[in-house]
Amino acid sequence: MSHSALPKRVALVTGGIGGIGTEICRQLARAGRQVIALDLASREERLAVFRDEVAGFDGAIGFEPADVSDFDGCRQQVERVEQRHGSIDILVNAAGITRDASLRKMTPQQWHELMRVNLDGVFNMCRHVVEGMTARGFGRIVNISSVNGQTGQFGQTNYSAAKAGVHGFSMALARETARKGVTVNTVSPGYCDTPMVAAVPAEIRAQIIAGIPVGRLGAPADIARAVAFLSADDAGYITGANLPVNGGYFMSF
Ligand code: NAD
Repeated sequence: MSHSALPKRVALVTGGIGGIGTEICRQLARAGRQVIALDLASREERLAVFRDEVAGFDGAIGFEPADVSDFDGCRQQVERVEQRHGSIDILVNAAGITRDASLRKMTPQQWHELMRVNLDGVFNMCRHVVEGMTARGFGRIVNISSVNGQTGQFGQTNYSAAKAGVHGFSMALARETARKGVTVNTVSPGYCDTPMVAAVPAEIRAQIIAGIPVGRLGAPADIARAVAFLSADDAGYITGANLPVNGGYFMSF
């Protein structure tokens, strides 16, 4: 059935020009959403490629620059997007960085830089959209966590802490918004075939793949599919959940 008479729901995707973010933008646009990718303006080369990659979507995927670690900048950008496209119905927090080092070598700078993006960024964005969502009685927030937040990872005390924190944040916010039609969930990818994982040394990559029951790295489309599922209009009874998408790498219950 066509829903073309209804206004398109507006989806904001942070880290939207990244490996996973780009595919999330595409799948949400295919699901009939008006999508805005939010990402660092400084990634000019990647942005040019992104614009080519989404050119076929006929304006359904836009771009706005923002640094998710900047609270006031996020507020300004949310206001700008709402003026241009209408209220934000769906927020996907996919912006993320790594600053790997074993704890005995980790600098406070590595710790704080990562926290500012991976954890503060989720607060900064949710803080500015949640009031509008609850007032309108509809919202879908999907935060991208990680299997390494569930299991811990050598050299990633900062990343694992932030990603576990993202899920705690999501469960708490899910309780605050459940009566108002707003769901908040996390998706925890396993190892995906993206630049973030390509940076891992070859022999460690081979070990990782050997440990994945499905026998391959995840594709960005595998993750985007979970985001599209959780952000669907009729997904209103799933909230505070974590959806692992890891090829069986970490099974839990
Ligand atoms: P990526 O590096 O390709 O994309 C991350 C994006 O975030 C980039 O486009 C980057 O510019 C953007 N970003 C970084 N700092 C930002 C900031 N301050 N403000 C706005 N945007 C910022 O990485 P990816 O693999 O696509 O990762 C997407 C998400 O998935 C991340 O949260 C990551 O932690 C998570 N994740 C990835 C994997 C994987 O295997 N690739 C596994 C588990 C979880």
